[in-house]
Amino acid sequence: MIVAVHALLGSTIARLCRTRVQAALAGAASHALADMLPHRDLDIPEEALLLAGALSLVVAARGVDSREFAGALGASLPDLENLIGRLAAIPDERLVLPTHRSHHGRRTTGFEGQLAMATLGVISLLIPGCDSEDTGQRGNALA
Ligand SMILES: [Zn+2]
Repeated sequence: MIVAVHALLGSTIARLCRTRVQAALAGAASHALADMLPHRDLDIPEEALLLAGALSLVVAARGVDSREFAGALGASLPDLENLIGRLAAIPDERLVLPTHRSHHGRRTTGFEGQLAMATLGVISLLIPGCDSEDTGQRGNALA
């Protein structure tokens, strides 16, 4: 899964959490589930650029100390293993996370599913926040 899509999915799921810790953990859990879906990955420079854009969007919309940013980070960080694996030419079967090693989703040629998830993530950032530890961030919502 494109790591920026993981980040946006994590920020969306974070909307259901009450704390940043819950959001980070839920984001990490969402990473494993999303990696099991059929998907296509990109090259490292494209992944890095899109991740920077996604995280910047989350920060601009909700702030760096928001549940959404914690969820985005929690959902993105597991792919550090993929980055290290690619840079060090480590075979997938030697990676630690099960969805990177053996339970990885089928490879696809298109991006439709990931584009739909990313769109959902962006839309969720536009919806005002509810009661949580970061209610002070409401004023940072886009729109
Ligand atoms: Zn992954």
